[in-house]
Amino acid sequence: MHTRFGDRPMYIGGKFESSDGGKWMDSINPATGEVHGRVPAGTVTDVDRAVKAAAAAQQEWGQLSVWERGATLRRLADAIQARGSEVVPLEAADTGNTIASLGGDITLATNYLNFVAGLGIEIKGESVPATPQNIHFTMRQPFGVVGRIVPFNHPFLFAAAHLGAPLIAGNAVVLKSPDQSPLSATLMAEICHEILPPGLVNIVSGEGVVVGDAIVRHPRVPRIGFTGSVPTGLAIQRAAAEVAVKHITLELGGKNPFIAFPDADPVAVAKAAVAGMNFSWSGQSCGSTSRLMLHESIYDDVIARIEAAVSAIKVGDPLDVNSGMGPVNSARHYQHVMNLIEAGKQEGARLVTGGSRPEGEAFKRGYWVRPTVFADVTMDMRIGREEVFGPVLSILKWRTADEAIEMANCLDMGLTAAIWTNDIRLALDTARRVESGLVWINGTGRHYMGTGFAGWKNSGLGREECLEEVLSYTQSKSIHIIL
Ligand code: NAP
Repeated sequence: MHTRFGDRPMYIGGKFESSDGGKWMDSINPATGEVHGRVPAGTVTDVDRAVKAAAAAQQEWGQLSVWERGATLRRLADAIQARGSEVVPLEAADTGNTIASLGGDITLATNYLNFVAGLGIEIKGESVPATPQNIHFTMRQPFGVVGRIVPFNHPFLFAAAHLGAPLIAGNAVVLKSPDQSPLSATLMAEICHEILPPGLVNIVSGEGVVVGDAIVRHPRVPRIGFTGSVPTGLAIQRAAAEVAVKHITLELGGKNPFIAFPDADPVAVAKAAVAGMNFSWSGQSCGSTSRLMLHESIYDDVIARIEAAVSAIKVGDPLDVNSGMGPVNSARHYQHVMNLIEAGKQEGARLVTGGSRPEGEAFKRGYWVRPTVFADVTMDMRIGREEVFGPVLSILKWRTADEAIEMANCLDMGLTAAIWTNDIRLALDTARRVESGLVWINGTGRHYMGTGFAGWKNSGLGREECLEEVLSYTQSKSIHIIL
């Protein structure tokens, strides 16, 4: 079958291969609903081959000095940068994220690999004065083979950036690409092929319940790094627990509160609320502040400004540099977003803007949703409680600070939160009380490398984007020299 991007193989043991089962899976262009490429439908046998190749390559890689591993990661970062202009249009076509915003993914990936490359020397142990006459110390060692499973929204960024921590720590990696946007993984494979020894990084495509599950259950994969939804995170914990004691980190979903206090400037709040929704990738970002909680005194003013800004977002072809928002990523996802929009309407939330497909010939096919804002949302509504992971902002009203904190904390997720006020005591007190792993005060959206990104409650386990991520790919050992 001829498609725009063709058949794109997996990468196992330094070779570009089709699946052991011989089957292929379609990748759909979200802007049109048409098949625009195919990847192999990986099998349990493919995963086994990938793990064996990784285990073999890890032997030598684990023996290199952190300086040698760091130098290789820097070369990997340079190679990603060099091919960024190839990755970006492919990624835009496959994910629906706008091309104008995707350059940032390449910069983030290369910056993070360079950052992590320098952290190798921090993989150190401690000397402990347990007894005066002997020597007691700890050392950190790699796990061996690490399984990395990534979601559909920024597949290249998640694949590239998060190879860094396992690799600098001396592990090899088996990576599973997401089936909704798997195409850029082949470019990642080509870049790895250019820079890394064969088998050190292996990329297997295919269904999560087959390939992802096989990685999780494989006896030679003791460490799994997962980014995706809460239900899949729970499934991974269950599957791993059925077979062994495994080390798992989870970066999961959120329904993130943005609390604006009465002294906040309505203009700044409206601007930040729109920016915090990440409409340039259709709101499909775990960190999106999708629950805007406004004090009653600024409620109407902020909503009017948001309505104007969101209605003006230009929805269109993600490959057009002037597009402000593309489609959502898949038929499955489109249905989920539309179901929640419908629920919002039925539950009595006030539709401020959006809430349907855009009009026009270009939007008759594909997975298009207008950027949507609901006001008068309450915490008993599904759009107040459930992660949409789409271009839908829910706005809630509050009167007292205690009420705002209660609303913010009443869900079982706690990824990010934003607080907007000029009162530093109030801001810090609220930051302490909010049950989220990351809090912006007078800001939204931005990640700050080195400070850590992680969820509380069901939003995750373990911290990424910091030294803790690197150390989490090591296991420590206590050594006692009895003199
Ligand atoms: P998902 O459905 O959980 O899928 C994530 C990955 O897990 C995909 O590669 C998927 O494969 C695989 N998978 C599915 N079932 C599996 C199983 N039983 N065992 C092992 N792997 C399995 O998530 P998504 O829809 O791609 O992504 C959206 C979610 O990710 C949202 O909830 C979002 O908040 C979250 N997210 C979190 C962060 C963060 O840093 N906290 C960042 C980005 C996204 P298939 O694609 O083949 O199904």
